[in-house]
Amino acid sequence: MTTYITTPIYYVNAQPHLGHAYTTIVADTYSRFRRLCGDDVRFQTGTDEHGDKIVEAAEREGVAPKEYVDTISGMFSSTWPVLEIEPDNFIRTTDPDHIKVVQKILQDVYDSGDIYFGEYTGLYCQGCERYLTEKELVDGNCPDHQKPPEEIAEKNYFFRMSKYQQQLIDHIHAHPEFITPERYKNEVLAFLSEPLEDLCISRPKSRLTWGIELPFDDKFVTYVWFDALINYLTGIGYPDGDLFEGNWSVAEHVIAKDILKPHAIYWPTMLFSMGLPLYQKLHVHGYWNVDNTKMSKSIGNVVRPKELVAAYGVDTLRYFTLREMSFGLDSSFSSEAIVARQNADLANDLGNLFSRAIAMVQKYRGGVIPAPGSYTDSDSDLRQAAEKMLGRYEEVMGQFNFHLGLQAIWEFVGVVNRYIVTSEPWTLAKDESGKERLDTVLYTILESLRLLTLVLRPVMIGATVKMGQALAMPKDDARISLLAVGRQWGLLEPGTQLQALETLFPRLEKEEKKEQSVKQTKKGKKKKADVTDVADDNLVSFDDFKKLDLRVAEIVAAEPIKKSDRLLKLTVKAPEERTIVAGIAEHYSPEDLIGRQVIIVANLKPAKLMGIESNGMVLAAKDISGEKEILLLTTVSGSVPTGSNVA
Ligand SMILES: [Zn+2]
Repeated sequence: MTTYITTPIYYVNAQPHLGHAYTTIVADTYSRFRRLCGDDVRFQTGTDEHGDKIVEAAEREGVAPKEYVDTISGMFSSTWPVLEIEPDNFIRTTDPDHIKVVQKILQDVYDSGDIYFGEYTGLYCQGCERYLTEKELVDGNCPDHQKPPEEIAEKNYFFRMSKYQQQLIDHIHAHPEFITPERYKNEVLAFLSEPLEDLCISRPKSRLTWGIELPFDDKFVTYVWFDALINYLTGIGYPDGDLFEGNWSVAEHVIAKDILKPHAIYWPTMLFSMGLPLYQKLHVHGYWNVDNTKMSKSIGNVVRPKELVAAYGVDTLRYFTLREMSFGLDSSFSSEAIVARQNADLANDLGNLFSRAIAMVQKYRGGVIPAPGSYTDSDSDLRQAAEKMLGRYEEVMGQFNFHLGLQAIWEFVGVVNRYIVTSEPWTLAKDESGKERLDTVLYTILESLRLLTLVLRPVMIGATVKMGQALAMPKDDARISLLAVGRQWGLLEPGTQLQALETLFPRLEKEEKKEQSVKQTKKGKKKKADVTDVADDNLVSFDDFKKLDLRVAEIVAAEPIKKSDRLLKLTVKAPEERTIVAGIAEHYSPEDLIGRQVIIVANLKPAKLMGIESNGMVLAAKDISGEKEILLLTTVSGSVPTGSNVA
């Protein structure tokens, strides 16, 4: 199979921001996923470099347009390696090859009668660089630029877009996956339910020279759509290059929703006119909101990709954007959210799993992969979970539902973490009789790590290289680089020596926390900072522990607290009656609690919560397996008198 995936070519009137980064991360991840599936992949991105806005921007900078576009285009091409994005082709609309092809297509379409000269009076928005229809205006303004458009009358060349309206509607109905997610298909069909106007494709040179000269009239240039969209063809050698046929027949475009209309309407009608087949799929994503507002230069909440990589690391940035955004919908970006994902999903769930597992094999088997003995039910359950994850992953990643693919992977991470807890390798290691079982458990865990390395490759390049190295597998080892091979169970060879694991994801601290911990260190009385001291800081002495008054208590009454979804007011006997406010309302209903024995900290300093004095604390366990926090009350394994001490 062949995959040809493109991003839009980015307009060089501004530097790369998070939105550009996301589109390109998506296309890169998809191309890596397709390679993992064994496809031949061609991935193209680039820059769009003609038009009024470029000339204006160059003038502001006091440089010639070409010099200006070289600089900004360079900022895009130098950003992608920092994000571990590896396009096969970076196209620029100022490339001579591209200009030649645009002129050939213009001539062909002109000769076929689909381009005509006419006068047009219209409402022109400088920001959009196109004429707007009355209908698009909001209170007389362009909705995107908040300015009234100018009325302009001029002679120009037009493309007969209207001629292909019905053909396009029919095509969309006949190809349900032509535009996805579905909401955008519906949006396009709604737009097509009104008569389509022809598309103005030229500007007189008297007004603009920074474009591609029309081959049939040297007083006019074309730019924007009849220039930019054609990059998808020129980049694969249209009309007669070797790459063209095979790639164009499978072309898929990724775009943000702001350029839906040009890609879903102008471009297909242009292709109809050229007599070419349409692209296969258009994948449309939403916007990133920063501080709950659409990112824009004027508001000043633009997020620069290179700065994000410097702050959080490239693996984290790629993971976060793919995990956080449901493809097609808008999503919010904040440093709190990215730090939370880094610490919880990456450092805690995944990173700890790897370091813990590799450390156990080092400790119990000298770092050598053991041969598994016979598998038990718990091993089979884990293998089934792995199969389920692989199936789901393959399905949803191919549909651009990257967040669902990552969810499935993290569910499996949870399964493996629980398997370790229930298999208790540390107990098996104590006794010679547990030897065979320990071998099987360790082997099962290592195979799970290998599968995780396999499926995470398209998303996190640096981390999966480290993971593969720890498992003694180079990058190109088919067991972690090809899904069809690697998905089979049992490919790790017993007897292989594991390698040291480099830290995958350091824990990040939020800015203010960092400051706090610095202050605390300064305040601390201990001046020695040797290793023993640091380790001691996490331990409590037996004397300290004895200060805690832990008791068995019985809940005799429970009621919700107004205005709090989280808190319940409990009356407990321990053995005297007291009130405790507990944050368990999302996990237990009040009637469920009456009569239960729980364990409380009886000598906690009283505190007022929602106006109620709480005397003590109810202990509960946090279930770490799922995404959602689940609290389970702690209790004793048999019935004891209320007030009994716990020690
Ligand atoms: Zn506008």
